[in-house]
Amino acid sequence: MDRCSFCGRTKKESNILIAGMSGHICDRCVEQATDIMKSEITAKGAFDFENKALPKPLEMKNFLDEYVIGQDDAKKVISVAVYNHYKRLAQKGKGKDVEIEKSNIVLVGETGTGKTLIARTIAKMLKVPFTIVDATVLTEAGYVGEDVESILTRLLQVADYNVKAAEKGIVFIDELDKIARKGDNPSITRDVSGEGVQQGLLKLLEGSVVNVPPQGGRKHPEQRMIAVDTTDILFICGGAFDGIDKKIAQRLNTKIVGYSASMDTEHIDKKNMLQYIAPQDLRSFGLIPEIIGRLPVLSYLLPLDKEALRRILTEPKNALTKQYAHLFSMDKIDLSFDEEALDYIVEKAVEFKVGARGLRAICEAVMIDSMYELPSGKQKKYVVTLDEVRQKMEKTTLKKLRNIA
Ligand code: ADP
Repeated sequence: MDRCSFCGRTKKESNILIAGMSGHICDRCVEQATDIMKSEITAKGAFDFENKALPKPLEMKNFLDEYVIGQDDAKKVISVAVYNHYKRLAQKGKGKDVEIEKSNIVLVGETGTGKTLIARTIAKMLKVPFTIVDATVLTEAGYVGEDVESILTRLLQVADYNVKAAEKGIVFIDELDKIARKGDNPSITRDVSGEGVQQGLLKLLEGSVVNVPPQGGRKHPEQRMIAVDTTDILFICGGAFDGIDKKIAQRLNTKIVGYSASMDTEHIDKKNMLQYIAPQDLRSFGLIPEIIGRLPVLSYLLPLDKEALRRILTEPKNALTKQYAHLFSMDKIDLSFDEEALDYIVEKAVEFKVGARGLRAICEAVMIDSMYELPSGKQKKYVVTLDEVRQKMEKTTLKKLRNIA
């Protein structure tokens, strides 16, 4: 009787039994083999931190420059932090006296300025598992919402459950500011979404072995858990920290009046207070000192001005205009944009205050008709002109743009 040469199932017991030269394989074994292959490939494709030369901070910054416009400070700081982090991994277990501490990172900046993009790009360069989680969905154990451990479930999933790969991954925790303690007094009533979650996060950030529910959701007793060591996972946190500029200003003012007369207010660039951000500002914002201590690298992203938005449209390796051109080229249509048309798109993004994310929404509104019609027509060249953009924008409402953005 024909049987699967791997598991011994008979033809009857399996859905499909494929015959080979001198054996058989059933559908279940094919599936399992595919899974094994996938995780092997993920493990092989990942960066080998011990044996390969790690890209130097300068190379990392150059790589980031290809995708992220401006934000030099954050790019530099993050390149150094990531470099040190992986150097730390490389020297582990080699009996050195100096133990390098983990360099988890906080990026502060308005939404849509490139925080996630920077984290994602670094992970892409290093080929390590990367995941984004939103801090707002996390709640203290026992409350409605997700347990803090669910962060690691996502990382395991992107690593195809290869625990070793996940343990060297990067996690981007978005909206860290939303779990800040509201008000300065620790409240008597439980602060479900604030301090309790910060305490939970602390455990992950400082590095410990955490039992992770493989499928996420709530932990329940019968579920099999996977132990994940977070010691070598790099955490990058991002947040807008609305109003933190006032806390920075307050601190700088007190300092100027109180101690050092040499640093006068004249030299402070009041438009971009974020560049003076310091850990104590995060504390005044409502993060607990322990969390701040576990996030030793702090940097900021500036709001994107008109010039930056204009560059974002055309310069990054996967700039929007390049993406559209590529899409059209697949239909053998040569797409180009008039300069004034691009200027106009940027003006609208500034006027509607929709930032870099809005650029995409505006482009979609402009391009949708042509993307619908041109592939079926004979036209081989398509130039997007100012007139066309204007016309299309007149038909688009701000609400529609905001919805897409
Ligand atoms: P956030 O700061 O909220 O994490 P994102 O990084 O998600 O913002 O940015 C949203 C989108 O806007 C990105 O996917 C990218 O297309 C674009 N973008 C934002 N900032 C930049 C930047 N500095 N350079 C290039 N593109 C950017």
